[in-house]
Amino acid sequence: MKRFSTLAVHAGEERFNHYNAITTPIVQTSTYIFRDREHIKAFAEKRLAHHEYGRYGNPTQEAAERKLAVLEGARDAILFASGMNAICTTLLALLRSGDHMIITDDAYKKTLDFTTNALPRFGIEATIVKMCDYGEMEAAIRPNTRIFFSESPTNPYLNIMDMERVTKIFKPRGITVISDSTFATPFNQRPLEFGIDLVVHSCTKYLAGHNDLLAGVVLGSPDMIETIRLFRRTMGGVIDPLVSYLLIRGLKTFPLRMAQMNRSGQRVAEFLEGHPRIKRVHYPGLKSHPHHETAKAQMSGFGGVVTFDIDCDIDGALSFLERLQLFYIGPSFGGVEALITHPATISYYDCTREERYRLGITDGLMRLAVGCEDAEDIIEDLEQALRD
Ligand SMILES: *Cc1c(COP(=O)(O)O)cnc(C)c1O
Repeated sequence: MKRFSTLAVHAGEERFNHYNAITTPIVQTSTYIFRDREHIKAFAEKRLAHHEYGRYGNPTQEAAERKLAVLEGARDAILFASGMNAICTTLLALLRSGDHMIITDDAYKKTLDFTTNALPRFGIEATIVKMCDYGEMEAAIRPNTRIFFSESPTNPYLNIMDMERVTKIFKPRGITVISDSTFATPFNQRPLEFGIDLVVHSCTKYLAGHNDLLAGVVLGSPDMIETIRLFRRTMGGVIDPLVSYLLIRGLKTFPLRMAQMNRSGQRVAEFLEGHPRIKRVHYPGLKSHPHHETAKAQMSGFGGVVTFDIDCDIDGALSFLERLQLFYIGPSFGGVEALITHPATISYYDCTREERYRLGITDGLMRLAVGCEDAEDIIEDLEQALRD
């Protein structure tokens, strides 16, 4: 077996392609044609592997799926048009009316929204439990619990779930454990090795890595992925061949970008932790992080997202943002450009200050994501913006 960076470049793709092109072709078609009656018959009798219609599969998308599966150490993978599409389709494919699922309270906001607002309309109940409260997780189990869904690390505090502990609680009871590993990527963490059943990523972030596309992937055993694949045939939400190509292209340099972002993330976190205007820094690579030991045990790097609290009010926070020259202000992370977001005004603008503070979203809370810039330039930008 070749090593990670080599696999990122080569895995999943054919060595020789049409016209001897070195790249995997973008098979930009919605339908696949039959040549004659023998061709039709061979297809109907399953003697011939033949694509049929774009919603069922596409060669470019399948190459991207194979590459992602190899990187995650999964036996199968299925791609979707976005991370949310991957999550919603997976839950709908695996759950039925009368089932119950458990989800942690700091999961991605839209995942929580789907499980607590949409699924109950189909007779599926969800219990929200506190992240890292393993007693509460166990106590939430019912006879009809089918899925435990969590993330690690989480947004914005980068909480780390002890994956071994979680699989010990749920797996003996036949409950499927799903983990959204977007913040870690297979470069830093491989949840399947800890017994997690299904791994989900928003490929929009680190995996594609250029802030230019949306995609999502689910990885795991062929039987579970096949159940989801059959459902995708009906639901749609397939990824376009051109976007699949861009994802393949991004994946080839993903280990290089990730190594750089891990280094810069750590340096930026350490810089901020030593700055007098910063009240608190949340980064799993810091000793001060409450789950640092768990993170060290199950991750090989801690990523490019750093959350920190500036000692200031809303106006001070916005002034800080405006002084930044390198960072772009906006949601998302994992792309080559450094990004920063101010949750209080950008994600929680419809909450009262009281509601926000209950969720831990303070006036001065910032979440930054380093890009592929030099760490020194990122730090200099923060330093000048933190000067009054
Ligand atoms: C962005 C994100 C998603 C949603 O992915 P999209 O590609 O934006 O649909 C889900 N989970 C996490 C942890 C994310 O960061």
